[in-house]
Amino acid sequence: MYDYCSSYETDHIHRYEGVTTYDDGHTHRYYGYTGPTIPVTGGHIHYMRGRTTFIDRHDHRYENDTSLQIFFYAR
Ligand SMILES: [Zn+2]
Ligand SMILES: [Zn+2]
Repeated sequence: MYDYCSSYETDHIHRYEGVTTYDDGHTHRYYGYTGPTIPVTGGHIHYMRGRTTFIDRHDHRYENDTSLQIFFYAR
């Protein structure tokens, strides 16, 4: 889902998109654009945050960087 790129010397962003893996009987889709490049050892990461799609009368917020698996806050 994450389009990792190696050209980390220039500032850029990525589009991301996916589906949550909640085990409470439903899932949400999420998508958006990452923040700007954050240089780290061996490459770069991006910050990402937002809200999932609105399903079953609620949504979820998420906030993470692209070096880790996306973590979704429970409502
Ligand atoms: Zn990048
Ligand atoms: Zn939910």
